Amino acid sequence: MRIDRIELTHVRVPLVEPFRISSGAVAEKDGIVCAVHADGLTGYGESSPMAGSFYGPDTPESCWAQLTGEIAPAAAGRSFDTLDAACEWLDTFPASNFAKVGIEGALWDIEAQRRGLPLHRLLGGTRNTAESGLAVGLYDDVADMIRAVERYLAADGYKRVKIKIEQGRDVELIRAARKAFGNIPLMVDANGAYTIEHASVFQELDQFGLMMYEQPFAGHMLEDLAKLQTMVHTPVCLDESLEGVAEVKRAIELNALRIANIKIQRVGGLRNALRVYEMCREAGLDIWVGTMPELGIGCVQGAALATLEGCNYPTDVESSLRWFTDDIVDPMITVTGGLLHAPETPGLGYRVDAAKLARYRVAQWEIAK
Ligand SMILES: [Mg+2]
Repeated sequence: MRIDRIELTHVRVPLVEPFRISSGAVAEKDGIVCAVHADGLTGYGESSPMAGSFYGPDTPESCWAQLTGEIAPAAAGRSFDTLDAACEWLDTFPASNFAKVGIEGALWDIEAQRRGLPLHRLLGGTRNTAESGLAVGLYDDVADMIRAVERYLAADGYKRVKIKIEQGRDVELIRAARKAFGNIPLMVDANGAYTIEHASVFQELDQFGLMMYEQPFAGHMLEDLAKLQTMVHTPVCLDESLEGVAEVKRAIELNALRIANIKIQRVGGLRNALRVYEMCREAGLDIWVGTMPELGIGCVQGAALATLEGCNYPTDVESSLRWFTDDIVDPMITVTGGLLHAPETPGLGYRVDAAKLARYRVAQWEIAK
């Protein structure tokens, strides 16, 4: 594979409603669409950090600077014997995972096209559907949260509901959700907003029969997360903690989790996501695929990964129009009866819409060698 040309487009699409978690809020979705041309084929990837740096240190601006200033100039004109060799080179390149994943994902698309395989089959997926779960952010009013959940469940039939919590806004939200929706599959995500001092909150939440507690404490607090797991019945799921292979290994050794949320963006691409997946499988953990959430390209990758055996909780990949007023892929991502369908056509199986890239473009850049 020889990389001849890389085109980058920073796009910004308005959200349907602002998304708020315990550490901040956004009203627009930024994504960097990476088109890589190699061997007569064009593959697409997406670099999709959360705007506003409240999820992590990586932002659309920092990733744009790394992609245009370092990664794409180094990758263009370079040849690789295999996809694995290309991913290995990218993995060791000194740049952020959220930037590298844009190029890495495009290389997987090219490889899938070259081999005539849909992406989910290239990844090892054993089915062509994946269950989708609804995630809702924080709302000022509990009634607004309940109405939002009702609306989205009615539209797409999601297989579970995930509610964001923060200190002082936790037990009442779950009590209200249980009252409104009965015994539906329900879970919480704290985005690291608590510490071990608040273990009693999670002990109290145990009464609601939740599927899991996602990231109760900050990512680095693995010992405390392990301690919490011994104090509660509900499984602890880690998200922000699982930044890469080394972090996942340590979390497993400490028994800090029973369930892993794998995010392709956070671990720097599909190759690393597969490595983390294998580690979690070997450790006997349950797995599901999270999102940032990404625009369509990142969502297609997430849905493809979610078709793998052992991804036995619903993914956070939702329909395009649940989050965004529009999407850059054609057709847009849809959830029907709570299921995402992975296309059986080679590569991503979705067309990237050039007119929409132009409509939502913030910046454009390219290099050819
Ligand atoms: Mg999370």
